[in-house]
Amino acid sequence: MPCMPAEVRDLANPWRSLVGSVPGLTAELENEFRFGQKVIFFNGLYRLGGNIKGGSSSIWSPSNVPAYQAYCGWKDVDGIPAEENPAAFDELLTFLRSRGVKLVNGNYYACEQDDHLYCKDWGYLYAITLSVLRALPEQHAERAEFRTLQLGGWGPDCAKGSAYDDATVNMYEFAVEGARRTYVGLLLHELGHAQEAAFDGPQHAVLYEHYKTIVAHKAVLGVEYLLDAETRRIYQLRVFEEFLPEVYMIYASQGERLRRYMAEHPPAVRAAWQAIYEIYRKAFDGIEYA
Ligand SMILES: [Zn+2]
Repeated sequence: MPCMPAEVRDLANPWRSLVGSVPGLTAELENEFRFGQKVIFFNGLYRLGGNIKGGSSSIWSPSNVPAYQAYCGWKDVDGIPAEENPAAFDELLTFLRSRGVKLVNGNYYACEQDDHLYCKDWGYLYAITLSVLRALPEQHAERAEFRTLQLGGWGPDCAKGSAYDDATVNMYEFAVEGARRTYVGLLLHELGHAQEAAFDGPQHAVLYEHYKTIVAHKAVLGVEYLLDAETRRIYQLRVFEEFLPEVYMIYASQGERLRRYMAEHPPAVRAAWQAIYEIYRKAFDGIEYA
């Protein structure tokens, strides 16, 4: 039975706060850091800021030494470490190429030579991405709906979060520089868009029928990895095309929690969830996760 990395399975739990354990970290600062804000030292001044909501603008405001130390302390625990891991890069590249999937370094998108593919700060990303892909059914990395994985860079309209488009899973700047938890959640969510694209017409129709029951009872699970859990719930309730990839992420990262959640509902909602679960179970070649 394939097993997701501990970091992925941890998505089932609330995002534990580091306030109190990281010196100088306040709840407000922690919120900022989780949403991609950082404290930098630039031109003789400490500044807090960064991208706004994954978009193209950034705002910087004056900050100070304690906030800078809090950022470094927070990043040490929750952030993506900038570390080398050429072995993990080689393994990921081999894994992807043997399945016909192209790896793109978004910071050098125009330049397709191999020597621009490797980024020395992305050791963690290479290793965790490989572990996630290996824990998925073999066909999820082989199908026509997943042909390219892009790490870094920006998207159309200066998007900096993540996206799925034209069989490409894009993990932009915000996703590769923020919290580890955000990266793994977004990676599975975007791979979930590939799954959504792979469902055929009749599957979509059945899923949508049951989705309507679930929406009527507001019975969706929220996972805290980008904004709060409630925001992710509202997102799924409003947009069917976002519900499907989020369920993919939930199915793969927290099967146990999802099965418990389904069981605690009245019969009509439970039946709708079970029908959806069954379609995903088939899509995952019968694999059920812990
Ligand atoms: Zn999405």
